[in-house]
Amino acid sequence: EPTFIPKEKESNIKVYVRIRPLSKEELLAGDKSTVTVLRDGKTAQVVEEGAGYKLTTRTFKFDGCLGPTADQDQVMERLRVSKMLDSVLEGYSSTIMACGQTGSGKTYTMSGRDEGVHKRNSLGKMEPKEDGLIARSVAYLFDAMDNCNSKSDQEKLYTMRASYYEVYNEQVNDLLRLDAPPREVKWSSTDSFYVDNLLLVDCETVDDVFAVLDEGSKNRKVGSHEMNKDSSRSHCIMTLHVDSNLFIGEGGAPITRYGRMSFVDLAGSERLKKSKSSGDMLRETGNINRSLFTLGKVISALSEGKRGDGMVPYRESLLTKLLMESLGGNSLALMIACVSPASSALDETLSTLHYGTCAK
Ligand code: ADP
Ligand code: MG
Repeated sequence: EPTFIPKEKESNIKVYVRIRPLSKEELLAGDKSTVTVLRDGKTAQVVEEGAGYKLTTRTFKFDGCLGPTADQDQVMERLRVSKMLDSVLEGYSSTIMACGQTGSGKTYTMSGRDEGVHKRNSLGKMEPKEDGLIARSVAYLFDAMDNCNSKSDQEKLYTMRASYYEVYNEQVNDLLRLDAPPREVKWSSTDSFYVDNLLLVDCETVDDVFAVLDEGSKNRKVGSHEMNKDSSRSHCIMTLHVDSNLFIGEGGAPITRYGRMSFVDLAGSERLKKSKSSGDMLRETGNINRSLFTLGKVISALSEGKRGDGMVPYRESLLTKLLMESLGGNSLALMIACVSPASSALDETLSTLHYGTCAK
């Protein structure tokens, strides 16, 4: 029996900020930290030193802020990711997105330190401390699925399939099939917008999903190298399809539920230096800005409770078309605005914090 009932009133989209620690390089360069979390745990405060030691203080409010000392485990807890995963197990769609400038911690948050390279230690076990949200979610889902599947006398209650693709320059590339040409985006009344011919890999264990992650991350790098493109300029979407057959009553046909959990590592939001913007670069930058801008508008429209009234501008970018299914309706969504606290990154940090609060 479903226990997850999305509330009508409460917004299903939450925006959090994560401030990463200063890096060694930044510390060596004499960078100071400009961002702190206030005691309410929801407000990020930026202190900027201007001319004549004059300090400017700005505050930005979110559903929650995670400071530089928050580890991966605490992020999982504070964001209540398990609640989303429970809803996915019940056939709903959920999305976690990370935005911010390149180097702000998006990939660390989603995929962990080694971006999906799931090395094992000498005991053959994962080194889980720095696993990102994806690995943690996969572990959580399999725990729940295996628990159910083993109890069930039916064949199999839950199945999982994984896909991994990137949106680069308004084009979709399957990160699991590097040799395939760009995929087409189609529309159907049941799936809304979807990527046609996308490889969905059957996953029976946690390791199967990790293999998908590793392959996709590797291809993201290889592909960008070969095509001479910058991987920080693509949006990467890893989706777990969690389908379940629900048996109600004896001998009846099962009801199939299609849960989906998507993890979106967005393109770096930094503005490019003017000198770098030649023709192609400009087009690319335009596309990234349009996607991020539209995504912000979509989230904002949804949080204002306009859900489902047709005013949400999904169709204005490929990215938001593809996320339509997992942002609207009964879906739960999280945006994590990642920022560096370094004084040298101040402009980009302010723009990310601004973006995050506007999206609310
Ligand atoms: P992005 O994907 O936004 O470009 P990364 O996730 O690659 O940024 O992070 C940049 C660097 O900072 C990486 O070396 C990463 O390991 C490190 N890093 C990011 N966030 C944290 C964090 N919360 N704690 C420790 N190191 C971090
Ligand atoms: Mg990254």
